Amino acid sequence: AYLQRRAPATPPRRAVAFAGHSMFNLLPFVAVTATAILVISVSAQDMSSRQRTVIIGAVLIAGFVVARQLLSLRENNVALRGIRRQQAELERLALSDKLTGLPNRTRFAVDLDERIEAHEPATALLIDVDDFKMINDTLGPAAGDQLLVQVAQRLREHCRPGELPARLGGDEFAVLLPVDEPAEAETAAARLLAGIGRPFRINDQQLLLHASAGIAIAAAGETADEVQRNADIAMYAAKEAGKASWVRFEPRMRQDMVHHARLASELHNGILRGELRLVYQPVFDLSTGLLAGAEALVRWQHPERGFVSPGDFIPVAERSGLIVPLGSWVLREACEQLARWRAEFGDAAVEAINVNVAVRQLRGACFVDEVAAVLSETGLTPRHLILEVTESSVVDGWQVRETLQALHDLGVRLALDDFGTGQSSLSLLRAFPVDVLKLDKSFVDGIADGADRGRLAVAAAVAQLAEHLQLKAVAEGIENAEQQARLREMGYRYGQGFHLARPLPAEEFAGLLAAAPVRAGVSGAELSSSR
Ligand code: C2E
Ligand code: MG
Ligand code: MG
Repeated sequence: AYLQRRAPATPPRRAVAFAGHSMFNLLPFVAVTATAILVISVSAQDMSSRQRTVIIGAVLIAGFVVARQLLSLRENNVALRGIRRQQAELERLALSDKLTGLPNRTRFAVDLDERIEAHEPATALLIDVDDFKMINDTLGPAAGDQLLVQVAQRLREHCRPGELPARLGGDEFAVLLPVDEPAEAETAAARLLAGIGRPFRINDQQLLLHASAGIAIAAAGETADEVQRNADIAMYAAKEAGKASWVRFEPRMRQDMVHHARLASELHNGILRGELRLVYQPVFDLSTGLLAGAEALVRWQHPERGFVSPGDFIPVAERSGLIVPLGSWVLREACEQLARWRAEFGDAAVEAINVNVAVRQLRGACFVDEVAAVLSETGLTPRHLILEVTESSVVDGWQVRETLQALHDLGVRLALDDFGTGQSSLSLLRAFPVDVLKLDKSFVDGIADGADRGRLAVAAAVAQLAEHLQLKAVAEGIENAEQQARLREMGYRYGQGFHLARPLPAEEFAGLLAAAPVRAGVSGAELSSSR
């Protein structure tokens, strides 16, 4: 009784299994029955009536004890069955996702591990809903949850027998595929993404979603953890390649990741050690040929690697979040520079400086305050600053749109950079307080020979659009005189490009200003070394 009271409420698995063994349970009863039979057979022979009464009494008591034991054994068995049911339910809850009821991350990992251990074909397909944050922001978290439940349902519907859909957390889902052939895995990915691509209905609203997926086929010697990580890397590659698609993991992607992580840490040190500097690319008025503005572009002189192009390190900075301190430095440095030029050259200096801003900076809660503070500390007014943002950042969500509106209200002008390459939408242009459109270089490239009629048509349309909406149109990346002439004919008032002027260090730009009026081309070939 003492031991029973001390025993834990839920017996461990082994004890439960042991208690179920009927042979051990019945042993005492067999012993008692055998003893009773022996005693009765002995007492049946010559014995006094008093002795017989005692023996019959003893046998009866033993009989009651046996009956009582059998009853409690029955009760125990019922209780044990209850415990087992509870255990199974707890296990189910621990291995499934509360919101969608799909298997969760733990169950996915266990199943993947089991397949790998058994040398069975296994592929991890990681699926992440694109721009889910924006949907959550605009429709609210309750609708976001509903949408996740429906996505889970879609995955269940589109999974074939043997495929295991799971929710890993947030807007991240996964499917364990019982295949090891790239073609089969890719077909499954395409089927599941197409399933998610069909419209959803939330609160009587129709919604179109898309998702990005990473595929990792378990190779010999890989652990479940490694396979999942590979799928994750491939999924990020899919996001970077423009979302709404799948990418299959390749070992070089891991090297890229390591390279990016190293570059990010070196960039962190580089910012602290002052290895960054700015160059300024002049913007010209194409009709007068006179200097009309300047764009600040960041440069990184790495002590060992040498010059690192912003095309390489800006994406790394964006992914790691370093773009925020980097962007703050660029903004302050560019404003201080313009203030110095304005102090030295007066109105001969450019009126405004263009500064590129990444969407992560716009998401920060204090960006507007930061801009206002930098302007007042450098003695500039909002008219002296043009912030360049890409189209994709404008569609990022209400928070970014509010920030842009607040900047516009402050009096800072906004330019849509690389225009034509993102998801340009006319309604976006009406809703967004934009002042300048910068036609992307890719549309300027084939403009002179007219080979690419589609791009030519976009370039012409953007110029007309800018005129009707009374926006400034700037053509980027002009590399020869023919392009310049064609763009002017099309109605582009402003232009920027190596043919007009390369990006220049501050001192060389000041040299130009000193020789005002500045005309396009003067700094073209002879200053080309400074890019
Ligand atoms: P962007 O803002 O569109 O800048 C224009 C890019 O085109 C610059 O490249 C410039 O040097 C280059 N360019 C100008 N004219 C020509 C031309 O005639 N031919 C060719 N081939 N290229 C031309 P850069 O400086 O390498 O910058 C690349 C991108 O990096 C920028 O594109 C911008 O998106 C980003 N970036 C640069 N500086 C910053 C910064 O301070 N902050 C942020 N967030 N992004 C920056
Ligand atoms: Mg720019
Ligand atoms: Mg651009």
